[in-house]
Amino acid sequence: MNSKCDKYEAIFTFADDETLMRHIDECPDCTAEHEKMQRVSDLLKEVKPVFRKQKKTNVLKAACVVLAVFVVGGISFNELNRNYDVIGHIRYGDMSIEDYGFPVDSYGLLMVD
Ligand SMILES: [Zn+2]
Repeated sequence: MNSKCDKYEAIFTFADDETLMRHIDECPDCTAEHEKMQRVSDLLKEVKPVFRKQKKTNVLKAACVVLAVFVVGGISFNELNRNYDVIGHIRYGDMSIEDYGFPVDSYGLLMVD
């Protein structure tokens, strides 16, 4: 019984090109396997420029997202500061809760029974 040679992957991975080529010359199974690999390799070469272009676009998109996060983040931080000013004004302004006659604790917070 003539079983299919399965050394191609091992030689391709672990041996040098010369060993691989020598084995391919004497083994029809591996020749077929090698041709398949060449087709995949050619296909990859064909696809590579398109993929590279996509990658560049992705980097551009990522840069835009980062910029957007900084811009939106900066604006919301300013918003937050403004809100804190408002809260500070209400709490520490001319009139506190105590001035309105509400029961407060030692922190000046409204006490609820
Ligand atoms: Zn072989």
